[in-house]
Amino acid sequence: EEQNARLEEQRDAIARSRRQLSDQAQVLARESRYKSEFVANMSHELRTPLNALLIMARLLAENRGRTLSEEQLRWAETIEASGKDLLALINDILDLSKIEAGKVEVNPESVSPAALAGQLKTSFEAQARQKGLDFTLDLAPDIARIVTDPARVGQILRNFLSNALKFTDKGGVTLGVKPDGTGVAISVKDTGIGISESDQKAVFEPFRQADGTISRRYGGTGLGLSISRDLAELLGGKITLDSRPGQGSTFTLHLPDQAPGASAALPPQMPQ
Ligand code: ADP
Repeated sequence: EEQNARLEEQRDAIARSRRQLSDQAQVLARESRYKSEFVANMSHELRTPLNALLIMARLLAENRGRTLSEEQLRWAETIEASGKDLLALINDILDLSKIEAGKVEVNPESVSPAALAGQLKTSFEAQARQKGLDFTLDLAPDIARIVTDPARVGQILRNFLSNALKFTDKGGVTLGVKPDGTGVAISVKDTGIGISESDQKAVFEPFRQADGTISRRYGGTGLGLSISRDLAELLGGKITLDSRPGQGSTFTLHLPDQAPGASAALPPQMPQ
């Protein structure tokens, strides 16, 4: 009997702590939403004065009246460059907090992955050539259209591509598209510095660089891959990474044939 009473007591205690935990979880979820909303509002407010500052720095750097010395011109250019870095950071933080607050809309439409890859090639080819790198497009035949948000897919792939060009000094970058189950796999392969196995997870965390530090050795915000990973999830897909230090990296975006929430009334699959 005594044992029964003790059991009963323990059961009560467990029920009590369960309730407390769930209350705490609700409080945490609410606070996390407040935090994301605060960050989103603040980022927005920061952009307005920063844009004004950037315009003024540009006007100075143009030096229309030829009144600035060489040194002063360089200062104006530094102000502009730092302002642009700051704007990129604010935009990334805004993106990430919008995603966390559940405020990012997915606008699915019928998309040709092959055509999208072609557009990306056009916009990155020149940049590759400037660094003496090859840019290759590797399209599997007959890639079906998918229903997804092309703006978000573009954002993810542009991030892969600018990283690939940033971390590669010889060789080049290959943008590949091939079928993947009922969907498609779009990969960006480079012959750059690569990422060690132990760092491969960390690079998807906010502000982290591959060496595990949060120092900005290569510039950039360290937020691109976190945003990409969250966006891929929103599209019902995922990102995989295959990399070897000194040999290069392949970032692959796997997308389903239909993004979640996409209306089934959209046109059926047709080869590109
Ligand atoms: P950022 O490039 O702005 O630092 P990202 O989130 O896009 O931020 O990338 C995080 C880190 O992952 C980079 O700083 C770099 O260390 C590593 N990384 C990303 N892409 C590559 C790549 N193609 N090759 C080597 N390292 C990479």
